[in-house]
Amino acid sequence: MLVRKDFWSLICRGRKKRIVTLVIVFLFLLNAMFYVSIELYNSVSKRKNKEPWYDSLHFDKNSYVDESGMRVIVGHYVGGSKGGNLSDEVINSNNYAPVPGAGEGGRPVQLSPRELITAHELYSLHSYNILVSDKIAINRSLPDMRGESCKNVVFDLEKLPTATVIIVFHNEAWSTLMRTVMSVINRSDERLLDQIILVDDASERRYLKEELDEAIAKLDRVQILRNPTRTGLVGARLMGAKRATGDVLVFLDAHCEVTIGWLEPLLDRAGSEDVFICPHIDLLSEDTLAYTKSIDAHWGAFSWRLHFRWLIPSSSVIKKKLENPAKPYPTPAMAGGLFAVKKSLFWKLGGYDKGMIIWGAENLELSWRAWQCGARVEITSCSRVGHIFRRHSPYKYPGGVAKVLNSNLARAASVWMDQWADFFYKFNPSVAEIRDKQEIGDRVDLRSQLNCKSFNWYLKNVWPQHFFPTADRWFGRIKNGKTNCIGVTPGTPGLGGPAATVSCGGDLDLDSLLVFTPEGQLMADEGLCLEQGNGRAVWKSCSDSSKQIWIQKGPRLRTSDGLCLTLIDVDESKSEVTVGYPLTAMKCTLDTKQIWHFERVPWR
Ligand code: UDP
Ligand code: MN
Repeated sequence: MLVRKDFWSLICRGRKKRIVTLVIVFLFLLNAMFYVSIELYNSVSKRKNKEPWYDSLHFDKNSYVDESGMRVIVGHYVGGSKGGNLSDEVINSNNYAPVPGAGEGGRPVQLSPRELITAHELYSLHSYNILVSDKIAINRSLPDMRGESCKNVVFDLEKLPTATVIIVFHNEAWSTLMRTVMSVINRSDERLLDQIILVDDASERRYLKEELDEAIAKLDRVQILRNPTRTGLVGARLMGAKRATGDVLVFLDAHCEVTIGWLEPLLDRAGSEDVFICPHIDLLSEDTLAYTKSIDAHWGAFSWRLHFRWLIPSSSVIKKKLENPAKPYPTPAMAGGLFAVKKSLFWKLGGYDKGMIIWGAENLELSWRAWQCGARVEITSCSRVGHIFRRHSPYKYPGGVAKVLNSNLARAASVWMDQWADFFYKFNPSVAEIRDKQEIGDRVDLRSQLNCKSFNWYLKNVWPQHFFPTADRWFGRIKNGKTNCIGVTPGTPGLGGPAATVSCGGDLDLDSLLVFTPEGQLMADEGLCLEQGNGRAVWKSCSDSSKQIWIQKGPRLRTSDGLCLTLIDVDESKSEVTVGYPLTAMKCTLDTKQIWHFERVPWR
């Protein structure tokens, strides 16, 4: 006590003493506040600091970079949050307040540390950054995203068919939806744009009622239809398509921005009445709304579990594309949200399967139907449209995502996939359970009326590089001992990663199953092939590389230069059985680590 008193009396006395104490307390509090805000800022932006923002934002965590440095976008979200504890007022208010210059030219919008915290709290509303969207003008500028060869193409606008642009939405943000509409109005030639139809799929948000009506009423050629009950995107798009007066239907999601010259290449190709033509989909960052080009050549396909995937096209397609970059190229499947099709073709081929609810699988169904029934699905790199890819679906799925998605997948598989539907059901028992509940009689009739080709034809002719089992491909497990199987380690990116053994798992475990082609490729799901790399075997995109050829010689797997696939780094001293041993090709010996047991598994 004495010490303290002496200390104070050394500095000051009486009133002065109190002032100094207050100043010190104030400085301490200021310091503490500063520290807390820095910590909060770091926790919000940690993800960004670790990776370049482009990489961290647009892709599912299952995406991976292949050997040429291209990112292969895989995966789609399932489920999403319900909006947490946000108040009714917050959920239903439109806070569009453009800041001059923000996001112009497609540039990212950065927020202050305080705003980042709010943005984080509001994220679950739309699964993208609503604060950023509300700061960007709904008619912001965007650069010309087309390649030089596309800019040189001249279209005779008088000869092109006209477009009805259909945009369906459920609880979309006001600014994002309006920016989609304004981008279409501002960047489509008047002669080509017949109408824009917005279809509200029974949104609940208050700002999407009169407030939206008023904004739309001021725009020429734009109308809004309201779905009385929520059907999902298929029902809503059909509602719009029925009211279309243009020659070509152009479907867009409600969080897109089209760029200069986007419409002409779509209408030019769609006019020919045998094709579903998709724009090249670029990326609008879900965090900053920055517009970025997506990889140059991609096409759509699907995994064994029928999840949509972006993959690298076959080498012959890439070669043709390089020779003539402005020419549309084929794709086995479309992503779904963005495409154009002649109205007459859309209806001739049966519109959409209206038994499909809410979201999902309708893109595969439409792609298979198009190809198998005499049309094509293509992508044109000359039409560039930005789309916000979200990692989580922000809205509710009645009965749960799995139930909704599985019933849509079952409909698509049962109608179009023939034997491969049995493959899908065998390894997805929860979908198999509901397959008989689907009323698909009219879709099966449609398939026979249209005289459509088989799924086998589709795989052989449209997607010959596919990685599904077939009658002439071996399918099963390749084992060393009882528990070690060649496979892709679950939860790893797979592609480019070193190959190691995985647990052989249960009967229906797809991770340990492989397709072994007559040519000698060992294919896993997701289009991965076992390749001998530098010292280690790795999983790579299936290609025609000779390093992906494995020849079965008795119980051994030989490379083209005579080495044998070997399990390495086995710790012989361990008594318990483990998995996860690396694989490589080595000089052939009598060692059991080169002895593989081929266990065939019926695939259907
Ligand atoms: N959508 C709809 N009703 C629904 C679900 C989705 O109208 O029940 C709309 C949604 O607003 C969007 C489009 O359908 O404009 C595609 O949905 P989403 O963007 O979620 O799919 P993704 O692009 O992620 O595949
Ligand atoms: Mn979308």
